[in-house]
Amino acid sequence: MNLILFGPPAAGKGTQAKKLVAERGFIQLSTGDMLRAARSSGTELGLKVAGIMDSGALVSDEIVIALIEEQLDLHPEAPGFIFDGFPRTVAQAKALDAALERRGAQVHSVIRLKVDEPALIARIAKRFEDEGRADDNPESFKIRLDAYNRQTAPLLPLYAAQNKLSEVDGMAPVEAVSAAISKVIEGAAQLASKG
Ligand code: AMP
Repeated sequence: MNLILFGPPAAGKGTQAKKLVAERGFIQLSTGDMLRAARSSGTELGLKVAGIMDSGALVSDEIVIALIEEQLDLHPEAPGFIFDGFPRTVAQAKALDAALERRGAQVHSVIRLKVDEPALIARIAKRFEDEGRADDNPESFKIRLDAYNRQTAPLLPLYAAQNKLSEVDGMAPVEAVSAAISKVIEGAAQLASKG
């Protein structure tokens, strides 16, 4: 079962992905986490993407697609992948479909966490206070939200046309959100087992 957790920054994708890892043994593939790890270990890639990430803009498709391909190869026996923060552009979505197809797999379900903008801004302001992530500052956050609206949200109709899109209320308490996600996963699993 391969699923995409979809939504703007701070919608709760990472929190929900971690619960699915703990409860179902899925592998979480967060390109944001991978890029942050590259930065903190000071790799060439990390140095290259640092400024772009801090500004709130997207790094190149080529970079994140390579990171995802590498991870898919590292976990051939995974019971499922949760794509968190990927794909974020049409080119990434196409590359993901192709990468999975080459491995005899596919995206089964895309779960959109719906949240409203003022609530998001409040979440980010709190996270900036708690964690001090440079790209959570208000200017960068605005750019991240813009990138989501302009480059990532256009993927929604594409996944809807494939009957893969489900929406969950991301404003509900964490446990209610995960219950709703579980329901979607059970439904997708049933469909997958019917072939
Ligand atoms: P995130 O933690 O997912 O919000 O990612 C933090 C930052 O990493 C983003 O603002 C982008 O600069 C970069 N990033 C993460 N994932 C992607 C992606 N799929 N495509 C392009 N840039 C990404």
